Amino acid sequence: MEVISTVVGYPYIGEQRQWKKIVESFWKGDLSEVQFHQQMKELRLHNLKRQQELGIDYITVGDFTLYDRMLDLAFMFGIIPERYQSLNNETALTRYYAMARGAKNVVACEMTKWFNTNYHYIVPEFDGKQLKLKENILLEYFLEAKNELNIIAKPTLIGPYTFMDLSKGYDDQTKAIFILQLLPLYAEVIQQLVDAGAEWIQLEEPSLTKSLPDDEVRLVEQIYSKLAESVPSAKIMLQTYFEALTSYERLSNLPVAGIGLDFVHGKKENKEAIRKHGFPNNKVLAIGCINGRDIWSSNLAEVVSEIESVVYLSKAQSVWIESSCSLQHVPITTRNEQKLEPVLLNALSFADEKISEIVHVTHYIKHGKWIKEKAVSESMEIIEALATHPIRNNKRVQEIMQSITANDFSRALPYDQRRLIQQQVLGLPLFPTTTIGSFPQSSEVKKTRAAWRKKQISDTEYEAFIEKETARWIKLQEEIGLDIFVHGEFERTDMVEFFGEKLTGFAFTQNAWVVSYGSRCVKPPIIYGDVEWTSPMTLKEVLFAQKLTDAHVKGMLTGPVTILNWSFVRNDVPREVVANQIAIALRQEILELERSGIAIIQVDEPALREGLPLRKENWSDYLTWAVNAFKLATSSVKNETQIHTHMCYVEFNDFIEPIESLDADVISLETSRSHGELIYSLQQHPYELGIGLGVYDIHSPRVPDVSEMMEILNASLQVIPKERFWINPDCGLKTRQEPETVAALTNMVKAAKLLRHEVLSNNVN
Ligand code: GLN
Ligand code: ZN
Repeated sequence: MEVISTVVGYPYIGEQRQWKKIVESFWKGDLSEVQFHQQMKELRLHNLKRQQELGIDYITVGDFTLYDRMLDLAFMFGIIPERYQSLNNETALTRYYAMARGAKNVVACEMTKWFNTNYHYIVPEFDGKQLKLKENILLEYFLEAKNELNIIAKPTLIGPYTFMDLSKGYDDQTKAIFILQLLPLYAEVIQQLVDAGAEWIQLEEPSLTKSLPDDEVRLVEQIYSKLAESVPSAKIMLQTYFEALTSYERLSNLPVAGIGLDFVHGKKENKEAIRKHGFPNNKVLAIGCINGRDIWSSNLAEVVSEIESVVYLSKAQSVWIESSCSLQHVPITTRNEQKLEPVLLNALSFADEKISEIVHVTHYIKHGKWIKEKAVSESMEIIEALATHPIRNNKRVQEIMQSITANDFSRALPYDQRRLIQQQVLGLPLFPTTTIGSFPQSSEVKKTRAAWRKKQISDTEYEAFIEKETARWIKLQEEIGLDIFVHGEFERTDMVEFFGEKLTGFAFTQNAWVVSYGSRCVKPPIIYGDVEWTSPMTLKEVLFAQKLTDAHVKGMLTGPVTILNWSFVRNDVPREVVANQIAIALRQEILELERSGIAIIQVDEPALREGLPLRKENWSDYLTWAVNAFKLATSSVKNETQIHTHMCYVEFNDFIEPIESLDADVISLETSRSHGELIYSLQQHPYELGIGLGVYDIHSPRVPDVSEMMEILNASLQVIPKERFWINPDCGLKTRQEPETVAALTNMVKAAKLLRHEVLSNNVN
């Protein structure tokens, strides 16, 4: 049997985030194009050399990008919307970045989440124009590796089906035209690579892990047979990931030389399919067995036995051993972490460490023995050490978890009765106005925090500053005339990090960056132990604010599911368990707030939708435990206490029911970007609890006037009864400037008053 080690892709950003620095310096004008390309080339070669040193057999090119790989293909194929053609004095590179980020008077292309990851890609916009291959960057990358480092690499590109599936600008009629135009371009790119000496071409087709209707499966078959006809000499590895290959029986028989399957996320189903239908005997099987989505060391012996069972089932004569998906979703190396406790650090595996794992298991599969016997026993000891770490065996947490009963998941009274009680005790006007939580993080706020982090100012000085800012904004809210106040979140930078730093079970890295979109990188916290509340997290700031005013100040927390979905999570227990532990911790905080007299508490869940599985048939499992976690956190309060939640930038159409099942007294939703759509959905499926549809977009400094807001309010009132109707902006205001914030909120309050007046006088008439 032939055995080869490889990865689907390697992170491009460099271990010191060099990539981000190069890109941003170019944007700022600090680098010329020549310098920019030179530095990018150095980084690419550095990444290739690193993989070479780690001993991987087959190195990939084309996993690198100057912004985003979907955009790369769109650009190569000339899918450049008209509005960018007209830009003056643009070079190809600045036009490329204009598509990504917008330019003066030209809006950027849409950006959206890459499957169920936190990476966002640029959505290509097909506009019916004739496509043409403008350049073949894959060929450039291939030749660069060959000429500079003598590497015959495996070029990878997003496959034609997935590319089409994720693009927009076509309908059922024009889809065929789009594909017919696309395929010759793919063929051209592939043929040039073959001519230049590429042995294999990897086509990434994650869209083939969604459940596809029959006619789509047929379309995939047509695409690939056409491609096979046009480039008969190319060896194509059809690479899937994130889930099992759909319609396995048919799609595993596509005319390609190899099939790559995810044996981490789609393990059960992929194995079942192979068992049932066999694996085509002339194809290479790429076994994605090292998790490309988590940061944990693998148990090498277990991985080997998994590979052996797949080999046995498939009877494959030739296999690749690889990551389950591109390693771009994990940080680069654990070597640069100096502050983590050793038990945790040893158990971590980022991209480089994962490559070593691949090399190790490949060696074993090839030779029947380990490179270093000791490495394997060590890998098990490491996993064992973390498993027995006190932080994973917190008796107090486990006892509370065991004592949970069905009652903990529901409020004492149903919403309709709570609403009446709350109305009496809170004394709110019709159409109460409020904000989402954060107020502008001015440069002064940022500077002061930076100084405090660097220990240039003391804790007392920093806290005094936060209090001064909070007090100033309480006064501003009074002047504006809002009904429910917030303290402003000046003490927080990040809504997950803030809580992670105060709860047990979390760890924070120094350099574990992953790209979220473009040059924006995030450093997700690591949840590695039992999560426990030890002391109040938000009480001080909220109570400080509450003492300054007679208005209600909302308590402000990040929800359990959002904390979970925006972290790297331990893999020794189901996610549901971790979500419930966080929920219990938040419940304690909520009860603390309630005891201290806070009557309204908001628990934000902007990432609830993000955790949805790719396959719709798995949605309900996830939603059941995710919704339960929220309810566990929020249900133990008195009937009088009003629970709010907030969500933004999610598609709500098929999501109203889950939101409703959270049983939050009030939800504030971002809507200005898709107001019409949401109103339509609410017409189809009326929402039964308190709800505020954002009346203005917080992403722009523009201040909408009262009449504009009135229009939105009147439209919303068509689908929401007035006694459950709230008024708020789309989202938190931390990225805005103060003057525009005050102006917009002032208009919002004016609009609310006008609406009250209109509605009340109508009632009298
Ligand atoms: N309370 C948070 C804020 O206002 C909510 C942020 C969010 O929705 N992402 O900033
Ligand atoms: Zn929001």
